[in-house]
Amino acid sequence: MAEGARFDASVPSTLAAQEQLAGRPGGVYEALTHDGRRVQLLKVLLSNACRHDCTYCATRCSRDIPRASFRPEELAGLVAQLTQAGQISGLFLSSGIVGDPEATMARMIEAVEILRHKHSYRDYVHLKLLPGSSEAVVSTAAGLADRLSVNLEAPTARRLSAICPEKSFERDLMRPLRWAAERVQPGQVRSGLTTQFVVGASDETDRELLETTWRLTAEIGLARSYFSGFCPVPDTPLEGREPVAPGREARLYQAEFLMRSYGFSFNELVFDDEGMMPLDRDPKMVSALARRDEFPIEVNAADRWELLRVPGIGPTAAERIMALRGKHKLTSLRHLEVLGARPERARNFVTLNGHYFPREEPAMQLSMGL
Ligand code: SF4
Repeated sequence: MAEGARFDASVPSTLAAQEQLAGRPGGVYEALTHDGRRVQLLKVLLSNACRHDCTYCATRCSRDIPRASFRPEELAGLVAQLTQAGQISGLFLSSGIVGDPEATMARMIEAVEILRHKHSYRDYVHLKLLPGSSEAVVSTAAGLADRLSVNLEAPTARRLSAICPEKSFERDLMRPLRWAAERVQPGQVRSGLTTQFVVGASDETDRELLETTWRLTAEIGLARSYFSGFCPVPDTPLEGREPVAPGREARLYQAEFLMRSYGFSFNELVFDDEGMMPLDRDPKMVSALARRDEFPIEVNAADRWELLRVPGIGPTAAERIMALRGKHKLTSLRHLEVLGARPERARNFVTLNGHYFPREEPAMQLSMGL
């Protein structure tokens, strides 16, 4: 069951923390909550049986694999036991759809209710809302979980129909997501709402993925999108398809991070004619190079918005720069480095007390540093 949940990237984790934790039971990953706490998260399915036949999925009904389901009290007991043993401090619960979504969600909810009420479990719970969940189910789930999510899988109805022909984008996925958004309030669903996309399965573009993320953040307060790179599974219609291009997932996370934490708008991201981001350089550098006429900016005078557009200057460095420059003029690249910026990336885009230190080519290596 942990193996089945492995493909679900909807955990509140950093990229580096997606790895299985050594020395822990199968399916335990380190994750970060919305307020920065580290959680040892058990990712598990209630059942790996499913009535749907999504073309990329290891759990699709037409695959000949052993199927199994937990009883709610069995799963709750296991989670309580692992928690007491100090092996886990959070639960991510998803499931295939056994019969109808209402019945499966009822069993998932029952497992969490037993955990919360019988085992007095107070730790983190991320509950997946299954496609087609009713408003009543969403409402009950919101009263139990720290985070709720719906896997959109694809960024548009057209893309979804290519990989999950039985699901309606609007009725089965967007409707439960909107109901969940209405229930995010103080003391309830405190880690917010997330979604997940399968990247590379439906010929979707980066532009579509990030535009949907941007729109849902504005419309319903989506906390984040997760991008799960497509990997071909034997005995599925997509078994011969190439896996997602190396580096694409990382670029999508970087772009999502720019919008979520740096205040970038979707329109500041740069795509090629096919709607894809370059893989050989990070989206912030690409955005800055596309707006060369807006640089260099003077570090001693720029506001926060301008500083955050400089490659190599992140939120922490921007705060430090703004705090220090009132007392001391910043005059050298070394000053930037001491304040946490990356001068080799920033030097082509800034002046320091009127001095410009450009190099012919800015650093463009594949890097997670923004
Ligand atoms: S509904 Fe979910 S578990 Fe079922 S086949 Fe589709 S992706 Fe797989």
